[in-house]
Amino acid sequence: MSNETVHSVNPYSGEVIQSFRPLSVEEVAVSAARAHKAFLAWRKVPVAERCGLLERASEVLLSRKSELAQTITAEMGKPITQSLAEIEKCAWVCRYYAGEAPSQLARTLIETDADRSYVRYDPLGTVLAVMPWNYPFWQVFRFAAPTLTAGNTALLKHASNVWLCGEAIESVFREAGYPEGVFRHLKIGSDQVEALLDHPAVKAVSLTGSGGAGSAVARAAGSRIKKSLLELGGNNALVVFDDADLDAALETCIQARFQNTGQSCIAGKRLLVHRKIADGFVAALVDRVKALKSGDPEDPDTYIGVLAREDLARDLEAQYQESVNKGAHTACGGKRDGAFFEPTILTGVQPGMPAFDQETFGPLLAVTEFDDEDEALDLLGNSQYGLGVSLFTRDTARAERLVPEIEEGAVFINELVKSDPRLPFGGVKASGYGRELSALGIREFVNAKTVYIV
Ligand code: NAP
Repeated sequence: MSNETVHSVNPYSGEVIQSFRPLSVEEVAVSAARAHKAFLAWRKVPVAERCGLLERASEVLLSRKSELAQTITAEMGKPITQSLAEIEKCAWVCRYYAGEAPSQLARTLIETDADRSYVRYDPLGTVLAVMPWNYPFWQVFRFAAPTLTAGNTALLKHASNVWLCGEAIESVFREAGYPEGVFRHLKIGSDQVEALLDHPAVKAVSLTGSGGAGSAVARAAGSRIKKSLLELGGNNALVVFDDADLDAALETCIQARFQNTGQSCIAGKRLLVHRKIADGFVAALVDRVKALKSGDPEDPDTYIGVLAREDLARDLEAQYQESVNKGAHTACGGKRDGAFFEPTILTGVQPGMPAFDQETFGPLLAVTEFDDEDEALDLLGNSQYGLGVSLFTRDTARAERLVPEIEEGAVFINELVKSDPRLPFGGVKASGYGRELSALGIREFVNAKTVYIV
């Protein structure tokens, strides 16, 4: 892809919004060297000053909210109200770290035999971010807010269908007053990532994306002894026990699966429901899903937009079709038109079907019934992924008793799995490693330096 023009295409209208010339290998090397030069000065800027700039970035995001949200909607088809919410959440993560970073980065005193011993949290250098298109602002800010505030500089390699978003994000940092070279969007394809990891300026990489991309980038980083953090796919279960508040659970399950038109790593993709309540619960879900408003992503009433690219809708259609061929039943939806895939519920889904075994990245909910707690645990754990799970029950003591049995990065009880700047976010198993957000997130790209004085 190095020399090929890259087009930003509106997936709803099919219109080419803008065309880009990717950077050459030489231009990328110059950017990496500049990021390193910027680092040498940025690391000396006091944390309080870095926090002031982050606060300013949050103000810029809010002042440009409507324009930035429209860029997201045009480029990847997210319904406009959800794009606006994404920008607000980016402003939140900036405000959060602007307030918390000074204490999170403060040295930790530890009593030993020394007169004084402590740990400092020094920045690593330039960190590469390889990011996906599904939350094209949030994924980047979730990485950049803590990583820059810790004193690192960042190079962003954004997904090739959202380079307008990448340009807009760089402009937010520039407008907020960040020094030149502290944050840079590089218009490059995935074929240039390995060369970047080879560059001595690049000290570590954070990747959010698919398992294939994650293992390729982690391999390249590992062979150069550079740290990687991976936020990969998920196949979260929504487990509805027979004692759940079913009205509340229903609304939460709808949001967990269908927001962002189903294109979320932490979406509740598999609904595991107790057999005793399954018929009524699924019938109510079907009514509710049929009422979700699909249409023009720019219309504020639209809840279901289009998928970010037509090939993604075709992939989902293939997973749907193979599941039906293997015996799943279509309770509603199932049709595709270009990049649009109807909100769909499949019942009778079993292990061995793509809708159960694989991540489905679109508005498709796979329903499987269970008879008891043990079967529910077996089904929810029957996944290569481990990002998160939601349990719905009025007996929260029972749910808490199950938590240690569950091999996931997060367990939410009577709530959808969601990210919150105050809480760590990340997975286990094929969902990746490392944690973003919270105090753990800001400590991922630092040198925890031991100091011992006698
Ligand atoms: P993707 O195809 O893996 O792309 C993600 C990024 O990786 C893009 O910038 C892509 O560049 C790059 N990339 C792909 N293959 C690469 C390679 N071999 N070497 C270096 N870079 C490579 O994923 P996506 O389709 O954008 O996003 C959907 C996936 O991301 C889903 O699996 C989803 O679950 C996961 N995700 C996870 C989280 C989380 O927090 N755990 C959050 C959001 C999404 P190009 O676009 O240029 O190919």
